[in-house]
Amino acid sequence: MLLARTQRMDRNPPMATEIQTTLIILKPDAVQRSLMGRIMSRFEDKGLQIVGCKMMRISRELAERHYEVHRGKPFHERLVQFMTSSPVLVMAVRGVGAVEICRKLMGFKFGSQAEPGTIRGDFGVSNSFNLIHGSDSPETAQFELALFFDAGELVEIDRAIEGWVYDLSTGSPE
Ligand code: ATP
Ligand code: MG
Repeated sequence: MLLARTQRMDRNPPMATEIQTTLIILKPDAVQRSLMGRIMSRFEDKGLQIVGCKMMRISRELAERHYEVHRGKPFHERLVQFMTSSPVLVMAVRGVGAVEICRKLMGFKFGSQAEPGTIRGDFGVSNSFNLIHGSDSPETAQFELALFFDAGELVEIDRAIEGWVYDLSTGSPE
């Protein structure tokens, strides 16, 4: 019994232990539907830090660079049109393992199939207008943050609550 449990635990993917910063975009549908506050609260409630935040209208050139990996796919042009159709809110979100945590908070990419409890699962039904973007790896996050933020735009926050968000007794946040 104990062995089975140990083996199951060993199969878990390794947990990220480093502090990461990831790019989140509240897409035009989230802004138009007045969901910015409620969606941002999901990240704050989780204990993550918002270290950069601004509203902007994405240019076609920026949208194409951001979604370069999807160039040539049938939905690419519609996606670029959507992302440039109305203002968005871009955020830099930081925490231990923030990239994967944010992807989990967002939920599956299609609103019709996203799990309840996730942002996409709770706030939308559309498979195209899916409210939110989040970087899908630490490497992608670095690339995407540089597209949307100048280095000087991100802040360092010495939060008073940090010692209650994380166990800091080992010297690194756990
Ligand atoms: P995002 O990159 O925006 O965070 P994602 O990583 O969950 O979303 P991707 O596979 O990278 O999903 O697709 C990028 C975006 O393209 C999706 O968020 C969605 O808006 C759109 N998209 C993806 N697949 C389709 C599809 N089959 N039909 C319509 N739109 C799609
Ligand atoms: Mg993606």
